[in-house]
Amino acid sequence: MLDDWLSATLDGSVAGRPASGRLPGGRYRLHGEGILELVPDVAASDARSVVISAGIHGNETAPIELVGELLAALEAGRVALGAPLLVILGNIPSIRAQTRFVTTNLNRLFRRGLDQEGEEPERARALMHAVDSFFARHHHCPLHLDLHTAIRDSRYPRFAVEPYTEGEAGTQPRSAWRALAAAGMQAVLLQHRHSWTFSHYSRHYHAAEAYTLELGKVRPFGANDLDALDGMRSWLATLAQGVPPAGGDVADLRFFQVAFELMRTSDAFRLTFAEDVANFSEFAVGERLAEDEKAGPFVVEEAPLSVVFPNAQVELGARAVLLVRPCDVPG
Ligand SMILES: [Zn+2]
Repeated sequence: MLDDWLSATLDGSVAGRPASGRLPGGRYRLHGEGILELVPDVAASDARSVVISAGIHGNETAPIELVGELLAALEAGRVALGAPLLVILGNIPSIRAQTRFVTTNLNRLFRRGLDQEGEEPERARALMHAVDSFFARHHHCPLHLDLHTAIRDSRYPRFAVEPYTEGEAGTQPRSAWRALAAAGMQAVLLQHRHSWTFSHYSRHYHAAEAYTLELGKVRPFGANDLDALDGMRSWLATLAQGVPPAGGDVADLRFFQVAFELMRTSDAFRLTFAEDVANFSEFAVGERLAEDEKAGPFVVEEAPLSVVFPNAQVELGARAVLLVRPCDVPG
């Protein structure tokens, strides 16, 4: 059942199957389309309550393949289930269509009281409900890894985005950074304000440790280099087993803090640098990065800025680019 759950979900054949059953060492239960809970018969002593989501953007396939491998390993008993897991396949229609989204970017809708209508808002509500009920049942040391790949190249192909949290709750234990380093992450980007992504949802409403993890560049199914994700694969396996992760060297991680977030506020908004610039490319003081008839030009001041997730074609009112600067290891 588990080893082909992803493909059966995508081709629709999952509908005729039992909604619950056994796997080696535990039970599974389907809570809806693309929402799979695994519960061990006996939780390991270091078990955390873990949400793993993939395909929130439909064309980001490497994370889906990685999750497929994990489920196959659990089903075969190569990885022994020792922790409660909620596995989520995010935007199913857009995965089928191999597009980032169908009508709007799902990863900015994870906010309670969301009143938008449509396919992605409905899905956001279903996923928020699934996470709420999972963390209500399993609340020990909650963790949410939302797995993505990026549209463009990156100076750091694998990096974590840590959602913004107010005050003390924002301080992470150093062990969190060591786990990210061991998982092969190369950089961590610290958000400076609320942004209603899926990982932010778990952080904000459930005080979970949570990250959006960028795992290389967008490629179609079958064209991903999963060897580059060995560290990530191992981390997922240790989490499923409920054993402590490998400890990496925090010195291997570069930390960045968001300094500015430029929004697309008019149709005339444009970014002045090349469309295919890599994430974390740095621009010197005095360089003009954006032009907008409403907000005026944006020029780098005081210290260089690096660009992350630039996309001038976003919907009006959405974020067009993050501008970041290096910072010290937090905590
Ligand atoms: Zn994404």
